[in-house]
Amino acid sequence: MSIPEPHSEAATPALSLQGISKQFGALAAVDDVTLDIRDGEFFTIVGPSGSGKSTLVRVLAGLEEPSAGALLLRGTDITRLPANQRPTAMVFQSLALFDHRSVGQNIEFAMKMKGVAPPQRRARAMELLALARLPEDYYDRAVTQCSGGERQRIAMARALASDPEILFFDEPLSALDYRLRKTLEVELKELHQRTGKTFIYITHSLEEAMVMSDRIAIMQQGRFVQIGTPQDIYQRPRNRFVAGFMGEVNILSIEETSGGAQFAGLGHPAPDTEGLYAVLRPESLQAGASGAICFDAEVVQRLLLGSRTQYHLRVGELALIAELGASASRPLEPGETTAFSFDPADIAWVNE
Ligand code: ADP
Ligand code: MG
Repeated sequence: MSIPEPHSEAATPALSLQGISKQFGALAAVDDVTLDIRDGEFFTIVGPSGSGKSTLVRVLAGLEEPSAGALLLRGTDITRLPANQRPTAMVFQSLALFDHRSVGQNIEFAMKMKGVAPPQRRARAMELLALARLPEDYYDRAVTQCSGGERQRIAMARALASDPEILFFDEPLSALDYRLRKTLEVELKELHQRTGKTFIYITHSLEEAMVMSDRIAIMQQGRFVQIGTPQDIYQRPRNRFVAGFMGEVNILSIEETSGGAQFAGLGHPAPDTEGLYAVLRPESLQAGASGAICFDAEVVQRLLLGSRTQYHLRVGELALIAELGASASRPLEPGETTAFSFDPADIAWVNE
């Protein structure tokens, strides 16, 4: 029996970006981005405000023409294809729903434009309501009577109505409160699994990206500085910019002294890692002297974070953040000076 050849279609990227740039006057909002997005992938672009995320996704969706580069959908060049002729759909943060229409009318909008008959539209809308985890009787409800989370689910159902191959999401959850955002992150991930479609998602929150994505691209000034799985990015951030996106981390510089390389501010010998910085997560700092690198720190502030406690520490000029679990022997008091330590194995080394 012969082993079947891998299906050639399976290897064709769902979307291939080849040197995509978008120039606004002198500003390169998107600067020569090359990337293949796999069929069925949940791909997330993370970056600070102004880094070019929306511009890039608008180019991918056909809402904006690139200044340079080509865009291939399953190997076919669609660079100049108008948005309404692409098998893609977009979900925005600003919930662009028709407030004066019902939930059902909103979901059916694209189908109505295409001339789908009312009974088929209604049947499909019911499927989409179920897919978006909304009760059937929402069909006749006014959109204005729906909560923020429900409106976001309606927007997703509406985007799915045209049965797109690729869905784009531009910060769809950023206007919602924390708990609702957490719930919808999980629902979005499930929706991705249930539909099997390619999701291209934008957020400024690496934490949000971590929960949902197969791969993450970190964007800075129009370029991707790192692309990898959530685990890659978390364990091996490429540079200080990426490390800074992981929330509150300690970034230690290494200084050359007459006695060799040292952790700046700690006075401990460090590996001779020219030009690299040591990234140390708050939970990698331990109270007490059990770690290989030990120093005295003054407790500046104590913050309770549910099951963990965060301490803001000071070692001379150096500010550090430690997070201790419930097993820590006793709460440390602001003002006291006590031993802290860490193990070099817990360091992630990054470039400038
Ligand atoms: P993000 O979505 O990451 O916040 P944007 O893609 O919205 O970033 O913007 C990237 C840069 O491009 C910003 O400096 C922004 O001011 C600029 N920009 C975006 N759209 C336009 C436009 N239509 N004309 C001129 N500059 C723009
Ligand atoms: Mg944006």
